[in-house]
Amino acid sequence: MPTYDYHCDTCGDFEVFQNIKDEPLRECPKCGNPVRKLVSKNVNVIYKAPGFYVSDHRSKEYKEKAKEDKEGSSTTSSKPSCSCTAAAS
Ligand SMILES: [Zn+2]
Repeated sequence: MPTYDYHCDTCGDFEVFQNIKDEPLRECPKCGNPVRKLVSKNVNVIYKAPGFYVSDHRSKEYKEKAKEDKEGSSTTSSKPSCSCTAAAS
């Protein structure tokens, strides 16, 4: 998981572990003041570990595909499981 740097006017600079898909922080977790995202290190993370970016993208696609499969088969999957139970007993 990459580390993102933020600057809080009250607390100074701090790092936050965040998923690459997560929304950037808008408030300081300590004091609640607005924070500014420092992007320089974030760019370095992506360049240093391109594999992470790729695998994250792939897992997102996979999740959406799995979600579609689940939604599409939710009505049909209940039927075979019913007949399976009936056949077993
Ligand atoms: Zn703060």
